[in-house]
Amino acid sequence: MSRSSTRLTVVLTAAMLAAVVAWHPADQVELIRRAIGLGPERPMPAPSVVQRGGTFTWAMTQPGSDDPVGWDPCQAIRYRINPAGGPPGGDELVRRAIDRASAATGLAFDDEGETEDRPFPGGVKLFGRPDPVVIGWADEAEYADLAGQVAGVGGAVAERDGGGRLRFVSGGVVLDVDAFTATAVAQQPRVMEAIVLHEVAHVVGLGHVSEPMELMYADNTGQVELGPGDREGLARLGSLPCR
Ligand SMILES: [Zn+2]
Repeated sequence: MSRSSTRLTVVLTAAMLAAVVAWHPADQVELIRRAIGLGPERPMPAPSVVQRGGTFTWAMTQPGSDDPVGWDPCQAIRYRINPAGGPPGGDELVRRAIDRASAATGLAFDDEGETEDRPFPGGVKLFGRPDPVVIGWADEAEYADLAGQVAGVGGAVAERDGGGRLRFVSGGVVLDVDAFTATAVAQQPRVMEAIVLHEVAHVVGLGHVSEPMELMYADNTGQVELGPGDREGLARLGSLPCR
């Protein structure tokens, strides 16, 4: 089937980008805050975790445990958009999806502006600050995981923090230029936004489920809203302790 006739069933892959585990030197500012008695603070309040009978899975778990790997909720998730090859309105589409992910997780996202970096795992350096999450568009010639009916790929990279726990510190979302056409975005903005939200949810730490009513079902079959399991899983990821 051609992609144009199957836009609603275009496949989304989980495709976690490789987990990089590296030691990061302790953050001096954080040490000073703790030394003078200021604990870490969340930029946004933790969400309420409500069990709604839905289904969710984690993209990555702590070694030897079922606990999820997530981001530090006391730090904003820095991101940049690379608009090259994207459809008209693509940046706004991405920002709306990120706003929804932020609301569902209570995690703050910090838009650091446009970039020319490609949206592939950069991201963890042995020393210095990890790269921001980069969100952009590519084709399968540049990014082979976009072959076939795949509309997007999203994931995050983790490092081991001072306490020995894995934390996501960078990541990327690659959106397929063949799926995110001007026509698709104009005619089905909510579906295309939902595909971006699905990928951002991978970045935040959700994996795929086999329940089609959840947005984390691997295929988008026209689902535009987060399902009950998506919401619970995102709230749990946003409720992890600060590092
Ligand atoms: Zn997926």
